Amino acid sequence: MPLVDAEMLALWERCRRRSSMERALLLLDGVRSDRAGAGELRPTGKVEWADRSLGQLNVALLRAYEQDFGPQLHCQARCPSCRQELEFELQVAELCPPSPPVAAPWSERIRFSAGELELSLRPLTPRDLLATAQVADPQLASILLAERLITALAWHGPEPAPELTGERGRLLPDLVEQVAAALARVDPLAEIALQLHCTDCDQPWQTLLSPADFLWQEIATRARRLLQQIHTLASAYGWSEADILSLGEARRQSYMECLTS
Ligand SMILES: [Zn+2]
Repeated sequence: MPLVDAEMLALWERCRRRSSMERALLLLDGVRSDRAGAGELRPTGKVEWADRSLGQLNVALLRAYEQDFGPQLHCQARCPSCRQELEFELQVAELCPPSPPVAAPWSERIRFSAGELELSLRPLTPRDLLATAQVADPQLASILLAERLITALAWHGPEPAPELTGERGRLLPDLVEQVAAALARVDPLAEIALQLHCTDCDQPWQTLLSPADFLWQEIATRARRLLQQIHTLASAYGWSEADILSLGEARRQSYMECLTS
């Protein structure tokens, strides 16, 4: 069942002035878990989205968007070369896999000349991104994220293990890259990259699609329209906010037309 007007307004109020990731979690808290394709639920029926993989989060946000705003995403992008605006539509179904992505902990083997390093890794979650959000240096942030994902290290080889850490005991950049590449392979929807092509100047480029931003923009637009209607009808008729919301869209719109006719 789609969100009703009062829920939409309450969700908008909770989500404004939040960071993008905080907002994504609040948006999913605002929709029922069964609608977001959460898969198995906790006994309480509540899903802890902060601990799901980013791919699972993105799929849940796309499903929530589809439920309230339909199966199409209306996209806009600007060519980085000639600044031409590109408009196109994507279907939620073509972005989402048929079943929710599973991103359980997994093991990765990295070959060195002296042997093999076995890494036990877990998927990247919203909680990881929130924990490193205040780190200003992007390179340090990616090192900290990679370190959080490694749950165990084991060396297999006849020679002693090579040095795995560098300055200040931090993981070496090469290993950070290997962790990032492994993560992209195991949880491909953690980042939704679109390959675009400018029809005017032939420039190819890549852009990232944020399901949280799509959902938020629609909710913010709907909330602003509701607030405008409430303001106009309350000013004209003296009704309360609750009364006006309980009218429903069709009757509110009819009263709005009465005021302008
Ligand atoms: Zn162009």
